Amino acid sequence: NEGLGSWPARRARKTPHRTALIHGDTSHSYAELYDRTTRLAHALRARGVRRGDRIAYLGPNHPSYLETLFAAGTLGAVFVPLNTRLAGPEIAYQLADSGARALVYGPSFQGLVAGLPGTTDVRAYVEVGAEYEEVLAEAGTDPVDEPVVPDDTCIIMYTSGTTGRPKGAMLTHGNLTWNAINVLIDHDLIADERALVSAPLFHTAGLNMLTLPVLLKGGTCVLVEAFDPAATFDLIERHRITFMFGVPTMFDQVARHPRWKDADLSSLRILTCGGSPVSTPLIAAYQERGLTFLQGYGMTEASPGTLFLDAEHAVSKAGSAGVPHFFSDVRVVRADLAPAAVGETGEVVVRGPHVMPGYWGLPEETAAAFADGWFRSGDAARIDEDGYVFIVDRIKDMIISGGENIYPAEIEDLLLAHPDIVECAVIGVPDDKWGEVPRAVVVPREGASLDPDEVLAALAGRLAKYKIPKSVVLADELPRTASGKLLKARVRKRFGTRS
Ligand code: AMP
Ligand code: MG
Repeated sequence: NEGLGSWPARRARKTPHRTALIHGDTSHSYAELYDRTTRLAHALRARGVRRGDRIAYLGPNHPSYLETLFAAGTLGAVFVPLNTRLAGPEIAYQLADSGARALVYGPSFQGLVAGLPGTTDVRAYVEVGAEYEEVLAEAGTDPVDEPVVPDDTCIIMYTSGTTGRPKGAMLTHGNLTWNAINVLIDHDLIADERALVSAPLFHTAGLNMLTLPVLLKGGTCVLVEAFDPAATFDLIERHRITFMFGVPTMFDQVARHPRWKDADLSSLRILTCGGSPVSTPLIAAYQERGLTFLQGYGMTEASPGTLFLDAEHAVSKAGSAGVPHFFSDVRVVRADLAPAAVGETGEVVVRGPHVMPGYWGLPEETAAAFADGWFRSGDAARIDEDGYVFIVDRIKDMIISGGENIYPAEIEDLLLAHPDIVECAVIGVPDDKWGEVPRAVVVPREGASLDPDEVLAALAGRLAKYKIPKSVVLADELPRTASGKLLKARVRKRFGTRS
């Protein structure tokens, strides 16, 4: 077995007594992880799961999450992590689309699972907790040895779907291994790493940027069911956490918490932020606390690590998502795929052993997503004279006003620097004269009284006139995906009508 399924066995051979997983007061050594994974594989096989079948998981971060992933890997089956924030019909869609045969789920999803339509292919259900432990206790422990090669699909991960129907990105064992190797190389991970996994494992960041690289190296992952800023401080101190990965909203909540000033954060070595642009004030807040963010840019389809900004350049190249990971190639290209000039905005395309072969069951979408073997990210960016990539925005979020291209992120970054603005989104609204004009939707800090004219006055002179929003709308909150990505389409729908 050349896939992920072999990792627990290989780790158990090398470092059986080291701690692999911690969850609440429970901890599992690598020998235990191997034993539990093997038992689960036998149990799933006894329930009809065969090579190539899909096994879905629905639940919060928990050791059984990784046990199910690795058990699937030992059987040559495919793991399908499901987003816990989805509604019943959305879960049913992904189960049916992936054709999952087995579903392992957390106890809090009992009701949702009971309400699933009978139209899915799921034949085996295992509930985490007493039932799961019983299933393991009764199962065999002989090594499971299915042939698995790097090109076999390991995971089908549905993209967060900021537009349209979610698509299942097929990530192979090779994709995930190369991504983990890129993280090991570029983050300088050590065997004594203690990672705080509060990002959900159903997203590529929590699983692939944090958990899998640490387990490959033999470190410890502390699994947390739900991100909570206060608990984060306790866990960092209690486990002497060295490595955290989060989306900007998580790091933002930590920095705004009352314990931020006096908590003992001295164990932290690696803080990585990715998934969305990081605002300059957030970077500054961490710098002031003596902590440097490493920043990453990636996408589910690329397993996801693609660009990476190291500590050495965190300040001198602030605002950049960095240079490609070691085993990754990135270009910024024009519409005809020719490389853009230095400073010219184009589309990010990526190629490398971490890039998926395609979307599950969607040959046309797959073909459209690639050009000449390069995966088209849909993100606009420019590259500087040293090869550092600056992500500008999503191409489709671009506003065209009087023939000028406006990338909302540039305006949003300035708005966020306003002390009374906690969240914002800039969208295009129809305009008779200009076609489209920018509008700012802002969430004021609680208790603050925000004057829209004053907000706009603060932008004057800092942006070209055509980029300055023509209107400001106050909102209580903005729609976001589970990973904290702004749902621009939904913002446009709600706040984008002609005023
Ligand atoms: P997902 O489809 O959830 O994997 O998200 C991938 C998308 O997130 C990318 O195509 C980008 O639009 C966005 N993204 C990820 N990392 C960054 C970053 N560091 N800066 C800006 N946007 C990012
Ligand atoms: Mg995407």
